[in-house]
Amino acid sequence: MIFKYKKNLSQNFLINKEIIKKIADIGIINNNTNIIEIGPGSGSLTEELLKKNPKKIFAIELDKDLTNYLDKIKNNYKNFNYKISDALTLDERSIFKKNSIIFGNLPYNISLKLLIKWIYSDPWPPFYDQMILMFQKEVAERIVATSNNKKYGRISILTDARLDVKFHFNISKKEFNPEPKVDSSVLSFTPKKNTNFKLEDLNILSDLTKVIFNTKRKIISKTLKKLLNEKELKIINFENIKNLRAENLDFNFYYKLVDLIKSRS
Ligand code: SAM
Repeated sequence: MIFKYKKNLSQNFLINKEIIKKIADIGIINNNTNIIEIGPGSGSLTEELLKKNPKKIFAIELDKDLTNYLDKIKNNYKNFNYKISDALTLDERSIFKKNSIIFGNLPYNISLKLLIKWIYSDPWPPFYDQMILMFQKEVAERIVATSNNKKYGRISILTDARLDVKFHFNISKKEFNPEPKVDSSVLSFTPKKNTNFKLEDLNILSDLTKVIFNTKRKIISKTLKKLLNEKELKIINFENIKNLRAENLDFNFYYKLVDLIKSRS
């Protein structure tokens, strides 16, 4: 079968079987587990996951030229099905409402959009118990960063608001075909069950961090003065922090800003 890789769909297939197995092993999978796999490609991770005997695997692949590969797997495993569709617009809850794990060696061009979509899941706790996702290494570093790190930013904060995240390992670009320009990293996520971050809070957090990190090289005093009134500035001890930069303020600082803005109305 001759398959022509499509660059615009971020088609870089992982070819090292040991690494594929290591990714599958991160999942806490039993015979009651539903798996949603994003971008199965020719199905190498899918087949490794099927060995673990989950209840069901449902894969979402955008490229219809991959149906030959996926049909073959479907014929061999009753618990596998797939749909040719765009993961960005998919309503995952129409597939599985609970006991599910999302797996994906994500298409690089939409990886952050997908992560944000899953952070914004409603209702919360979400339809998934765990996500095991591969990102470009540089993007993964931004997701897991904490304060006082150059890579810390909006995506680190939005992620922490609703998810616990764990770094697992890096994967050299040499392990893919065709070889991408950059290395990758595997992260796993679990939803914070007791977070009180509702959708409206996430929207406030997203807007706030957009404004604050827009001037991330500057000290924070001017931006904070624009965002908060005198009373609110006192509450956040403005005098003590006014010479810091956005990256020096920890998650809790940003969550406190959300609380302050929410309590106005
Ligand atoms: N899972 C395979 C692997 O690990 O080797 C392939 C991973 S490859 C980086 C990304 C896959 O996502 C490709 O198969 C690509 O066709 C698919 N894809 C790209 N955009 C997509 C989208 N919007 N929705 C679903 N799948 C998409």
